[in-house]
Amino acid sequence: MSAGPGGVRVVGPGGSFVGTETHGYLAPRRRAREVRVGSLVLGGSHPVRVQSMTKGDTGAVQATFDEIVGLEAAGCELVRVSVPTVREAKALGEIKRRIKIPLVADIHFSAPLALEAIAQGVDKVRINPGNIGTRDEVEKVVRAARDRGVAMRIGVNSGSIRERKALEVKDRSEDMVELCVREALRHVEIFESLRFHDFLISIKAHTVPLTVAANRLLARSCDYPIHLGVTHAGSSEPATVKSAAAFGILLAEGIGDTIRVSITGDNRQEVRVGHVLLQALGLREPTFDVYACPSCGRAEVDLIGLTKKVEEATKGLTYPCRVAVMGCIVNGPGEAAEADVSVSAGKGAGFIYRGTKMIKKVREDEIVAALRAEIDAWIAERRAAEGAASGA
Ligand code: SF4
Repeated sequence: MSAGPGGVRVVGPGGSFVGTETHGYLAPRRRAREVRVGSLVLGGSHPVRVQSMTKGDTGAVQATFDEIVGLEAAGCELVRVSVPTVREAKALGEIKRRIKIPLVADIHFSAPLALEAIAQGVDKVRINPGNIGTRDEVEKVVRAARDRGVAMRIGVNSGSIRERKALEVKDRSEDMVELCVREALRHVEIFESLRFHDFLISIKAHTVPLTVAANRLLARSCDYPIHLGVTHAGSSEPATVKSAAAFGILLAEGIGDTIRVSITGDNRQEVRVGHVLLQALGLREPTFDVYACPSCGRAEVDLIGLTKKVEEATKGLTYPCRVAVMGCIVNGPGEAAEADVSVSAGKGAGFIYRGTKMIKKVREDEIVAALRAEIDAWIAERRAAEGAASGA
């Protein structure tokens, strides 16, 4: 671990990245209390972490293990599993022993299941204050977590509050904001009365405005780390857009210590989208990235086809290098000036650039190979320069 400009360079699950307190043009990070969850520390100036949840039967240990390994390979940094009955709770110990990333048990409706999860050695227990039970039951869970050094999350869900308070709230969203935060703080008070502080809080809703407003108010009301999520966000496209909108606003204001992009679909995609989102905001170091112009009537090439071929030819590259694929030589080079390596298409030809410097002109059928060769050369030079700088 070595200090980086404006923050701490961290090497951990999901790759290396910089956790900064000041995010360039964004608001400074809210300074949350630090909470340990297994091998990770959340909050403070630690990087915003990407989490996901398994979709299979938690009680099927091998299948759950395989699913978690897939999530971890995609960059998942902590994983939550649902615990609907005692059968799944009893499987947690073995799952925990076999996986590398911290394990979070998701508990609804049953304090005894939370107690069993804690006994099984999970790293964190998420409870839903809307349905977990009486104060007495909550206190039992908190005492057990405190005594075992297990973290918790108070996971408020606007849906379960709306259901319970339907008669009181009608449909005024400002009331829901206050209700959600009050529900979270009611549990904060219980946790603190037992001298327990190792917990995060989340307030999830299925609309972006409510998610944003509730988390803003929550952030002002306490110093506990905040997990961000939008519930029931839908399939890939709407879920990605809603999460990007909600998380983008909040993270730009310095709010949020972990995120989960909920997608009705492949959970590895949740993780990938989470990382792209953090990279787009400058909260993670970029990795290898191919971008392209949208194409228009000036394009001299089938840009969609060319971009797909470039993506295919560069699959597996991870070194942070920005590659641009542009459809014309009129605007392409200017628009791609911030790319490390780019190609702008001409009539039956491609012009390969490094930044604003034209390197060579190749035939259209040579573009992909020539671009890849230039990318390889650029990365090799960067690596050599880094090696020389570190005295290796
Ligand atoms: S770079 Fe050229 S082809 Fe691409 S969108 Fe701009 S003008 Fe159109």
